[in-house]
Amino acid sequence: MQIKSAEFIMSNSDVAKCPATRIPEYAFIGRSNVGKSSLINMLMQRKNLAKTSGRPGKTQLINHFLINKNWHLVDLPGYGYARVSKSSKKVFQKFITDYFLKREQLVCAFVLIDCRHEPQPIDLQFMEWLGEQQVPFSIIFTKADKLKPKALERNVDTYKSKLLESWEELPNYFITSSSNSTGREEVLQYIDEINAG
Ligand code: GDP
Repeated sequence: MQIKSAEFIMSNSDVAKCPATRIPEYAFIGRSNVGKSSLINMLMQRKNLAKTSGRPGKTQLINHFLINKNWHLVDLPGYGYARVSKSSKKVFQKFITDYFLKREQLVCAFVLIDCRHEPQPIDLQFMEWLGEQQVPFSIIFTKADKLKPKALERNVDTYKSKLLESWEELPNYFITSSSNSTGREEVLQYIDEINAG
């Protein structure tokens, strides 16, 4: 897929106020600092479409972007950041869960996982919850350039084994790096194929 246009549409914290159009959308979510903003900018080949976070936990909104005038890319807040206060954490969780429960336009959620780390309970629990709610999702491993090929393979294998403890089938997954654009074509082609129906 060629990215011909990428326009910011709106930010809000209420799923009811998200764009009312029926165009398909793809959401990106993960722990703070996982590399989500960098990945979105890499996929879109834009320097500052998504704001890379100086301070993790800052972008606490649902951000809609219109891509090629025919699909929405949705940048969701990072989760699992300790410094958000208890009350704001609650709101954050409710509007995020609301987004997944109510947003009929959502075609696929991309759950971002830093390939350097051991499987983290918060990510596993989140994917489990998505599964229970029957929200389709794929995994995007980020920061692949930070590991040597052998270590990368080992970590991805560890992740797969962990997932297979609770899932019968593995979700689709992609290995990416925002530093060298690894995985860009694969992710965009996947979206393209789904959009083509
Ligand atoms: P976000 O909080 O998930 O949006 O994460 P950011 O995109 O702001 O990235 C967090 C940090 O990881 C920044 O210092 C980025 O430069 C770095 N980073 C993100 N993606 C990559 C990557 O693919 N490779 C490398 N080497 N660093 C990355």
